[in-house]
Amino acid sequence: MKNELICDNLSVNAEGHLCLAGQDTTALAQKYGTPLYLLDEDRIRANCRMYKGAADAAFDGRFRLFYASKAASFKQIYRVMREEEMGVDLVSSGEIFTAKEAGFPLENALFHSNNKTDEDIAFAMDCEVGFFVADNEEELYAIEREAERRDARQKVLLRLTPGIDPHTFAAVTTGKVDSKFGTAIETGQAEQVTKIALSLPHVRLCGYHCHIGSQIFETDALLRAADTMLSFIARMKQTLGLVTEILDLGGGLGVRYTPEDPTIDIPAALAGLGLAMRRTALRLGIDLPVIALEPGRSIVADAGMTLYTVGTRKHIPGYRDYVSVDGGMTDNIRHALYGSRYTLLPADNMTAPRDLVCTVVGRCCESGDILQERVKLPSGIRRGDLLACLTTGAYHYSMASNYNRLPRPAVVMLAGGDSRVAVRRETPEDLTRLDV
Ligand SMILES: *Cc1c(COP(=O)(O)O)cnc(C)c1O
Repeated sequence: MKNELICDNLSVNAEGHLCLAGQDTTALAQKYGTPLYLLDEDRIRANCRMYKGAADAAFDGRFRLFYASKAASFKQIYRVMREEEMGVDLVSSGEIFTAKEAGFPLENALFHSNNKTDEDIAFAMDCEVGFFVADNEEELYAIEREAERRDARQKVLLRLTPGIDPHTFAAVTTGKVDSKFGTAIETGQAEQVTKIALSLPHVRLCGYHCHIGSQIFETDALLRAADTMLSFIARMKQTLGLVTEILDLGGGLGVRYTPEDPTIDIPAALAGLGLAMRRTALRLGIDLPVIALEPGRSIVADAGMTLYTVGTRKHIPGYRDYVSVDGGMTDNIRHALYGSRYTLLPADNMTAPRDLVCTVVGRCCESGDILQERVKLPSGIRRGDLLACLTTGAYHYSMASNYNRLPRPAVVMLAGGDSRVAVRRETPEDLTRLDV
């Protein structure tokens, strides 16, 4: 119970209210309504600076950081990233458009996705996105065709699968040979695609990319992936004379959702990675390329919180207690999708004993609409009380839906002791706006 405040931007004030970034969540719920996404902008900036300092030290200043914006994508995020001089990783024309609308300098962006349509490729080139991360051979040809039409030369990284399984959850593992993402080293296809890239006059091959998965706490898998990539890079130098400028190792470092989750010291992890990679490069007789990283979750997750108002309570004798809230799988799909664990707290009553063990559910017409099981709450919790779900800054707003025609919550950002709306709460009119 003592370490349930899993991030140091959380506190409890004299009234027994939970605070985020020093601001009273009960007051914020009253002002903006629920369900509500809160994001501590100061924390996001601090996370960016932590990564920058850590990467600078680990890779002797030869690094690039691209925030994986699928974790949380809306205009204010891209403004913050521009101000923090971060690059961004974009995965669709929609994300490119949002970043562009926010005035983000797109030459400092990467365009990902395992299936970029011809329209996406054309739009990204219209917007002058700096780098394309080509997933496979077919995509390289599509990029070449569009670049040729424009008489341009597009900078490209090739996404490879190093054949590493970080042993996290299957749905967030992406670096195995059998994957919808990337081109495998093991099968010889990576070398083949490299030769093709080098033969295309409108493609400039700048380097390689891999991303082994998400929620990684053990850097061992990352070290093995880096080793495999460097060995491949050395082989390409030997056989093709290719000097690789950039090696992008993706994102995926983990965050804590519950007090039981491990902690990862990111500066120490990157320092270890940098040291190991310099040794490997020396052994292989290559210069270490510029190292790129694409953190998403570890930039925004611990900045976030979702506030809910409690509704129906139900006691089923011999079975269990249900507490329902005014949101659910529409604003948090992660428990239904991955069985993710969360910390839920009685935000307006942090000091009462937690003598009720219950299942917290959403309001959708779906039995799987569960936020969390075995949650400890005060037995007196009732309709109108406030519940907070911690660590919801990543993959919550960006995965939100309108299932059951529920309007998506507002996103309110907290900065320097103030709060302001970054994304408006949807209205019933928003829900029918596209209906004809
Ligand atoms: C999702 C993703 C990331 C970010 O992963 P996090 O776990 O949020 O850090 C980075 N790179 C690629 C290619 C991704 O698909």
